[in-house]
Amino acid sequence: MPDSLNDSQNIIGYIEGSEFPDEYIFISAHSDHEGIINGEIYNGADDNGSGTAAVLEIAEAFSLATKNGYRPKRSIVFLHVTAEEVGLHGSRYYSNHPVFSMKNTLANLNIDMVGRVDKRHADNENYIYVIGSDRISTELDFITQKANATFTNLELDYKYNAENDNNRYYYRSDHYNFALKGVPVIFFFNGEHEDYTKPTDTADKINYPLLAKRTKLIFATAWYLANSPTPLKKQLI
Ligand SMILES: [Zn+2]
Repeated sequence: MPDSLNDSQNIIGYIEGSEFPDEYIFISAHSDHEGIINGEIYNGADDNGSGTAAVLEIAEAFSLATKNGYRPKRSIVFLHVTAEEVGLHGSRYYSNHPVFSMKNTLANLNIDMVGRVDKRHADNENYIYVIGSDRISTELDFITQKANATFTNLELDYKYNAENDNNRYYYRSDHYNFALKGVPVIFFFNGEHEDYTKPTDTADKINYPLLAKRTKLIFATAWYLANSPTPLKKQLI
């Protein structure tokens, strides 16, 4: 428990890999939101209840696979980071005080808002923004495309991956602190909507089938990363 309102914790769990236990695939989401402001509760259902729920579902899927004889070859680390909304503090702390070797951390799949649909996709909700996947490792982008083509067939929207994008989302969630340490990252994101960072970001507005589908894509990507014969190459080709 926190000692004071100024204290907070990251939460970490992992499943040890069977063949390469010292190589790590991270799946992360921030667990904080805005709190209570002027007496109003900022529910944060999409930001980031959706991401934290996705991390737990993926953890359960890997756990079930392990129990059924399909332990991943590499270790999978599940990380809920705190204090994202006030400046990515939890992930910065983790990246400067890593529990597992950063050198052997092959990828960070970061999930921040995956339960809603933005205005650009009002006519086709079958999408997810993919940000950062080709900036450190070309292979990482290839793997998520392969996972998507095989299992989910979402539109992978790279609009916000553009280097000159004014929104600068690549720098605005927790994966960025991993990228700064040279870890290949993907930021999975549904884009902003009318309830973004408002008290009205409530659970009844989440598109649950879509949240499940996007979570499957992230699970499949992690599965490939964990089980490929060779580790992900941290390089561009
Ligand atoms: Zn967020």
